[in-house]
Amino acid sequence: MKTLFCLWVGAAVLWPVLTRAGDSLDEVMPVRGFSIPAPRPAEVDRFVKFIDTGLAPRGVNTLVLLVEYNFQFQTHPELRDRNALSQEDVKKLAAACRKDHIHLIPQIDLLGHQSAGKSLGSLLAHYPEFDETPWVKMPERYTWPNADGLYCKSYCPLHPKVHEVVFAVMDELCDVFETDAFHAGMDEVFYIGESKCPRCGGRDKAELFAGEVTAIHDHLREKGRRMWMWSDRLLDGKANGLGEWEASANGTARAIDLVPKDIMLCDWHYERAVPTAPYFAMKGFHVVSCPWKLPEVGVWQVQEMAQWRKRSPAELKDRFEGVMQTVWTGAGSFLDREYNGKPGATNSWNCFTAMYGEIKKLQPDAK
Ligand SMILES: [Zn+2]
Repeated sequence: MKTLFCLWVGAAVLWPVLTRAGDSLDEVMPVRGFSIPAPRPAEVDRFVKFIDTGLAPRGVNTLVLLVEYNFQFQTHPELRDRNALSQEDVKKLAAACRKDHIHLIPQIDLLGHQSAGKSLGSLLAHYPEFDETPWVKMPERYTWPNADGLYCKSYCPLHPKVHEVVFAVMDELCDVFETDAFHAGMDEVFYIGESKCPRCGGRDKAELFAGEVTAIHDHLREKGRRMWMWSDRLLDGKANGLGEWEASANGTARAIDLVPKDIMLCDWHYERAVPTAPYFAMKGFHVVSCPWKLPEVGVWQVQEMAQWRKRSPAELKDRFEGVMQTVWTGAGSFLDREYNGKPGATNSWNCFTAMYGEIKKLQPDAK
C-alpha cells in the first residue's frame, strides 16, 4: 500500500509538470473540458479552490459554466435569479481560470430548455410572448410522458423581439467572463415549428433550427467569438436508432448541412460511445465527445478520439478536438457529494477521473 501511495503522490506531483512540460498533451487531446452549472455566490470561493486543486492539476484546459440567469445582469435585470453571481464573483472565476490556463466559456440555454419540470425559466416568465407553445400550460406536477409532449419549453425563434433580449444577455455575459467563446446550449429542442405558432407554423423544422443557430453564430462572430453548442439536434434519431434525446426525432437533423461549420459541437452520449464524432468531423465541424456518469463511456470516448486523430489526414485530424466531462447537479452539490464523495460510485467525478487517467496515458512521455 505504501508503495502504491508513493506512486500516487509521485504521479500527482509529476502530472502538473508533465502537462506544463510540453505541447504533447495538446497534440493528442487539444480540448480537455469540464462542464458544470455555475456556482451560486456562496459557493464561489470553494469552486475557485476546486479549479485550482481539482481541475488544473489534472490537465483540464476548458471550463464551460452553465450560467443561465445566475448573474446580476445589467442589460436585463428583470431576468436575474434571486441569488445570482455578482460581477466580482465572475471576476474571481475568470482570474482563477486565467492563472490556470483554462479557457472559460459561459453558457445560457438558447432556443430549448426554457422550462424545467414544472418551473418556467426566467426568459419566458418575463416575456411570455416569446413562448413557442403558449397554449401548453405548466403543470402543477410534472410527469413524463405527458399529453402535451412537454419536456421543456422553447422560445419562438421568429419572434421579432426575442434576439434583442437574448443577444443582450449573451453579450453581457461574454464581456464579464472576458471570453472569446460562448456555449448556446441548443439541445433537446422538442418544441419547434409548432403548427399553432403564427410565425413558425408550416415551416421546415430543420430550416428553423438552422436559422436560429446561424443567427446566434453570426452575432457572436461579429464580436470575434466562437459558438459552442450541443450536437444532438443535428443527428437523425430515427434513422440511427439513437432516439429522441441524444438525437432528433422531430425533423431538425437536416440542419447539419445548413449551419456554419466553425461551430464547436459538444457531442454528448452518456450510455454508450457511438461513432457520431467522425460523422460531424467528416461534415467539416470541430467536435468534442462528452460523457456523464459512466467511466467506461468516458474512457472509450478518449480512446476513440485519440485513434481518430492518429489515423486521419491532417485536414480531418484537427476537427477531433477532444473530450468534455459533463456534470448535471449544482456546483455545491457536486463538490459535496461527488468530488468529496465515495470513490467507485457511479457519478461525474469518477467518470472524470477515469477519463483523465486515460488521457494521461496518451502522452508520449507518460510513464
Ligand atoms: Zn414560432
